[in-house]
Amino acid sequence: MAPRARNAQDIAALRRNLLVWYVANRRDLPWRRTTDPYAIWVSEIMLQQTRVAVVVDRFRAFMARFPTLVVLARAPEQEVLALWSGLGYYRRARMLHKAAQIVAGHHNGNLPATAEELRALPGIGAYTAAAIASIARGERVAVVDGNVERVLCRLERWEADGGTALKRSIESLAAQLVDPQQPGDFNQALMELGATVCLPRNPQCPSCPIKADCRTRGEHKTAPRPPMLSREVAYALSVRTSPSAGKHSAREVLLEQRPASQTVMPGLWELPTLRSAAVPAGELRMTVRHSIMQVNYYAHIRTVFEDDVAALAAPGGARRWVALNEAAGMALTGLARKVLLRAHLLPAAPLDSILPAAASAPRKSRRGSPASRASR
Ligand code: SF4
Repeated sequence: MAPRARNAQDIAALRRNLLVWYVANRRDLPWRRTTDPYAIWVSEIMLQQTRVAVVVDRFRAFMARFPTLVVLARAPEQEVLALWSGLGYYRRARMLHKAAQIVAGHHNGNLPATAEELRALPGIGAYTAAAIASIARGERVAVVDGNVERVLCRLERWEADGGTALKRSIESLAAQLVDPQQPGDFNQALMELGATVCLPRNPQCPSCPIKADCRTRGEHKTAPRPPMLSREVAYALSVRTSPSAGKHSAREVLLEQRPASQTVMPGLWELPTLRSAAVPAGELRMTVRHSIMQVNYYAHIRTVFEDDVAALAAPGGARRWVALNEAAGMALTGLARKVLLRAHLLPAAPLDSILPAAASAPRKSRRGSPASRASR
């Protein structure tokens, strides 16, 4: 399957209509206010698999703490993971940190300029490399994410079958359409259109700036969403007064560090897992729903006294009693942070105000042209 033939005027009209729409309708997001390749890189990594609404606060906190690539490269991994808390998929943070160390060590702290060079860094695939190179450097490369795929499939009436031939056709069409003068804005505009207008289930075709070029206009079939699975798990919430607190009572919570050998969230801190997911009603502190991929976890949180932990908790990683003010700045799993916040054991302040103050001065953003920066 090949993209249909479009003449130069049709392509120019599509680009113009899309870019005009984008300038008027794009969401005001913090990474759209900068031309810094490092900031754009961070935002692109955060936006993979995570909703924009969740990323906004985490991005601000991360950039306040690690305002430059070199600052990030020099930070301990546990601190980087702590700032990633709530975003999930912690491998992304580890790869970002590792790549920052490579750039700091071998490229004088400057990210490589081209998409091809960027792809040599850990954690930067074709999509991320094209996004950074087009948005920050103006390289004419097309970005293809899930939103772009959907828009282009609908333009051509292609059935999304996940096959290699379709993937190549989408890439070919994206490369044909990308605006040579404003590749970054064009890429962001197409992603924004998919995120806000050409929605998976209910495309807003009357408001679409490129409907004149679209073969389906809302008649495109959408694959049914796979059903979510459910799992029940249980964790111990053990809190005590620190034995070394003296007359100043300081509370501590029992945390467990996931072994480094774990494939999922290695090195992160969580509440001790209980052997049984069945929690007696009188000891149930709360039940928290936590979704990861296609699974809804119903986490039952049981109040467990210090003396009972050994009998009730499953064998796991190394356990440690941690002062609550220290726990706030640790690399907690998203679920552990959620539970401690709901139990009012952590301050509900933004993460950047909880963590130690080093390098926390707000960074001055460099505003680009009105039509610069964006993503999903
Ligand atoms: S006309 Fe409708 S289906 Fe076609 S690209 Fe626009 S929003 Fe999507």
